[in-house]
Amino acid sequence: MSKHLLIVGGGVIGLSIAYYARRKGHMVTVVERNGRERDMASLGNAGMVVPSHLTQLATPANVRFGLRNLLNPESPFYIRPRLDAGLISWGLKFMQSATADRIERAAPVFRDLSMLSRRLYVELAAECDNDFGLQQKGLFELCNTDEGLHEEVHFAEYANKLGVPAEKLTPEEVRKLDPGVTFDIAGAVYFPMDCHLSPAQFVAGLAQRLEADGVEIRYDAQLSGWRRVDGRVDGAIVTDAQGTHTLQADEYVIAGGTWSDKIAHELGFALPLQGGKGYSMTLPQPRETPAICSLLMEARVAVTPMLGGLRVGGTMEIAGLDESIDPRRVRGIIKSFCKYYGAFRHEDFTGVPVWRGLRPVSPDGLPYIGRVGRYANLSVAAGHAMLGLSLGPVTGMLMSEIISGEQLSVDLTMLAPGRFD
Ligand SMILES: Cc1cc2nc3c(=O)[nH]c(=O)nc-3n(C[C@H](O)[C@H](O)[C@H](O)COP(=O)(O)OP(=O)(O)OC[C@H]3O[C@@H](n4cnc5c(N)ncnc54)[C@H](O)[C@@H]3O)c2cc1C
Repeated sequence: MSKHLLIVGGGVIGLSIAYYARRKGHMVTVVERNGRERDMASLGNAGMVVPSHLTQLATPANVRFGLRNLLNPESPFYIRPRLDAGLISWGLKFMQSATADRIERAAPVFRDLSMLSRRLYVELAAECDNDFGLQQKGLFELCNTDEGLHEEVHFAEYANKLGVPAEKLTPEEVRKLDPGVTFDIAGAVYFPMDCHLSPAQFVAGLAQRLEADGVEIRYDAQLSGWRRVDGRVDGAIVTDAQGTHTLQADEYVIAGGTWSDKIAHELGFALPLQGGKGYSMTLPQPRETPAICSLLMEARVAVTPMLGGLRVGGTMEIAGLDESIDPRRVRGIIKSFCKYYGAFRHEDFTGVPVWRGLRPVSPDGLPYIGRVGRYANLSVAAGHAMLGLSLGPVTGMLMSEIISGEQLSVDLTMLAPGRFD
């Protein structure tokens, strides 16, 4: 049965849901508080689609790293200490989630979601003449220390056991796969299933196709409240240039990225989220253009060839909703990048604009996807942390299955929106 679906948030998650719901014949309205030329996490990110990513953010190693670096604002993973009840509660849940059992149970969920999402990206690229530049060339995890390489090789064995191909490479083998690039490394692990693309092109193209297919995207329209009746949502209160009105639909989905916890709060349930701030810079004419994207493992920096340029990004700063740019952290990214890619110099980045975005990070680093128990017609798709682009299509497909009352393609038990409520 065809339904009317109202989605709050026009990022990669909201638009992917709109796409798969529309394909199933539902009528869709998207409410996005920013204008058509908007900025958000979904645009300036590193553009990686990563079946290689099998570990949740909450691990004992990250807890130790976060605590050790509480006073080090240059650290690539940094929890900015503040007296904030939300942050303290999030931090406690983060520590409680960092157990070997949870990490082991989460890995096959990440694998299934990522593999399916990758397949969907290939299908989407075929439908639009690949106008978002999907490159199925794999990803290097580059290491510049023997210790780092040892750890990654260990992880590669684990990935292989889970059915995700990964291969150890010497520096010479890396140079052979990506010739003409000056790598200063001890070695690498290569994940052939990973891909990269241009996220801004993907989002813009998707929005355009949705509108052509009858989806209403209401830009400059802010969700400001809800109407509820008998365990159901009865309307979304939206404010735009014309004033404040109530939009009614059969089903509602919260896909507001980092701001989804505020939206949930209005409806009386907890969806703990923190903004995980990261930065990127895109060199328009790089000295060398790698063909294969990479993660610089010791530095936690991502490097992606994009539309003839080269995007370099990184850092994860748990800083609430603060969107200011900290030049010390930007300098740290550039310094690390030049260590692994020896031909580049710090001066190459002079005058290159710095983009920043907030990753929506749940305490365990797993997304929230599913229905909200206390409202029969409300669902959530948020909290994708470092994987929102990667998991956009699969999230859209799963949400369209939920709305349509169909059997789910992936078991979502671990992703239940109420798991911390
Ligand atoms: C530096 C960096 C690099 C990254 N690299 C990658 C990568 O390589 N691969 C990957 O998979 N992920 C990556 N990510 C993560 C990815 O960008 C995010 O997970 C993803 O963009 C989240 O998408 P979203 O749609 O949930 O949120 P957003 O993109 O933030 O969109 C949410 C939207 O909801 C709107 N909204 C919020 N509240 C309201 C309201 N009340 N009313 C109306 N609208 C509202 C906002 O305006 C916003 O447009 C990276 C992130 C960063 C910062």
